[in-house]
Amino acid sequence: MSHTPFTTLGGTLTVDFLNTFQMQQGQQVDLLETQADVVRWLDLMVASQKLAPVQKAQILTDQGFSLDQLREFRLECRRFLHLHQPFEPMVSWMAHFVDQSPLTFRFNGHKGVVAIPIKGGTAGLLSLLAYDWLKLKPVDYLNIKKCENPHCMAYFLNVSGRRKWCAMETCGNRQKSYRHYRKVRKVPSA
Ligand SMILES: [Zn+2]
Repeated sequence: MSHTPFTTLGGTLTVDFLNTFQMQQGQQVDLLETQADVVRWLDLMVASQKLAPVQKAQILTDQGFSLDQLREFRLECRRFLHLHQPFEPMVSWMAHFVDQSPLTFRFNGHKGVVAIPIKGGTAGLLSLLAYDWLKLKPVDYLNIKKCENPHCMAYFLNVSGRRKWCAMETCGNRQKSYRHYRKVRKVPSA
C-alpha cells in the first residue's frame, strides 16, 4: 500500500496534474506509476472539487490508461512553463487533445455546467486537462510559477502575485529557517 503524497496546491486541475512529478529527498519521483495511481489522483481531484463526480465517472468508463501518453503530456506542459513559452503556440497543441475526445456539456445543478469528454480513459482525461488549460487567461498562464524552493519541482497558480512557495508548511518554512541559519552562522551566499 503506497501513501502517495499527491497535492492539491496547484490552483487548477492541470497544474495539480503537473505536480504528480515531484522532488522527494533529492530524488525525482513520478507519482503516476500505475493505473491505480491515476484513479487515486482522480479521486483526490473530485474531493478537492476540481473534477465533478460525473467527469470522473466518464473518464473511468475506460480504465486502460496509457501512462506513457499521460507522462508525455505532463512533460511537455512542464517544458512549456520551464522555457517560459508564450501562451499562444500552446493553444493549438492543447486543442488537439480536446479534438481527440470532444466535450459535451451537461447541467450539473448548483455547480453550473460541467464538461464531459465523449470518450473515457486517456483521451478523456487529456481532453479535460487540455480544456482546463485553455480556460486560462494569458495573464493566468504568466502567473503559473515554480516554487522558489530550489529543491522543489511544484508549480502553482500565483493568483495574489506574492506567493513564493507551493506550501508554507513545507517549502516556505524550510527556506525561511535555511536563511535564518545562514544569517546566524554568517554562511556566505553561494
Ligand atoms: Zn515547494
